[in-house]
Amino acid sequence: MTQPPLIDAFGRRITYLRLSVTDRCDLRCQYCMEEQPTFLPKQDLLSYEELTAICDSFIARGVSKIRITGGEPLVRRDVLSLIEALGQRLGNHGLREICLTTNGTQLARYATRLADAGVRRINVSLDTLDEVMFQRLTRNGRLGDVLKGIDAAQKAGLQIKINAVALQGENEHQIEDLMVWAHGRGLDMSLIEVMPVGEIGVQRNSQFLSLKTVRARLEERFTLRDIALDTGGPSRYVQVAETGGRLGFISPLSHNFCETCNRVRVTCTGKLYMCLGKENSVDLRNTLRQGGPVALNARLDAAMQDKPERHEFDVNAGPAVSRSMARTGG
Ligand code: SAM
Ligand code: SF4
Repeated sequence: MTQPPLIDAFGRRITYLRLSVTDRCDLRCQYCMEEQPTFLPKQDLLSYEELTAICDSFIARGVSKIRITGGEPLVRRDVLSLIEALGQRLGNHGLREICLTTNGTQLARYATRLADAGVRRINVSLDTLDEVMFQRLTRNGRLGDVLKGIDAAQKAGLQIKINAVALQGENEHQIEDLMVWAHGRGLDMSLIEVMPVGEIGVQRNSQFLSLKTVRARLEERFTLRDIALDTGGPSRYVQVAETGGRLGFISPLSHNFCETCNRVRVTCTGKLYMCLGKENSVDLRNTLRQGGPVALNARLDAAMQDKPERHEFDVNAGPAVSRSMARTGG
């Protein structure tokens, strides 16, 4: 890296970019989006060349990890060509890792190409192993598709972490089974607290389940030992003695982790969000189109000064931001 790193007004260095390549999805998870969401017009999406140019600017400023996300990233046409282009930047260019967050439904088709492109680790979101509950939570998804995708990804040699949102009155009593299943297959798992993001017509406090409660319940049956594993994300990990596996806790509400935040998000239309829980954004699309990489670079510096110190999520209030997780990129 020859250019100075991206450092925000609170001294936090930004090394991690989450890039949302589409806001569209083949599922409709109840905690993520409405049943009939309005998606962005396709003509507003940045081309893969533009998204790559934005990634290049971040890589030149010290971003070493890029996560491709969405919406469901694998439903955007020919997304592998973008991932393959980014794969060319691994190593020499300062980029150390390309990861993917996916719902897994399309993985059976893409796992091998992902591995060939240089992806090593993926997160697969899966909240339950109960077919009926899966169908209800995703509003008509098929659990079998995801399980086939996980099989294919393991066969392709991808390291998988299962991400599950803990949901009051839904999967809360299935978390143990999900963890035992994941660890039995050699997969890490992280639990996530539901966040009040997006106008999706639900009272968040009816969905929210504190991970403090989940941990206490798990500790009635399992021995959890805190470990200092740092995967560059917000999970705090424990080792589970009985399963031999690792379990992460992503607790944006019950344990705020903003002081170590190292990430920013770019949407498929080129909006740079410095915080998942705040409305302020910077339009990288016009900057890139009008001023090219030099203007983009200057814009990143200005944006860093705008990164808030922390989010202020409150499940008892309205949504912290109006855009859904699928729009910002989870
Ligand atoms: N479609 C892909 C998937 O589901 O993995 C990638 C995008 S999705 C928005 C990324 C992650 O955000 C998923 O693990 C999902 O469970 C999580 N998520 C969505 N809405 C959420 C919310 N309101 N609170 C917490 N996590 C949420
Ligand atoms: Fe789609 Fe992921 Fe949102 Fe579920 S969580 S609706 S899979 S974007």
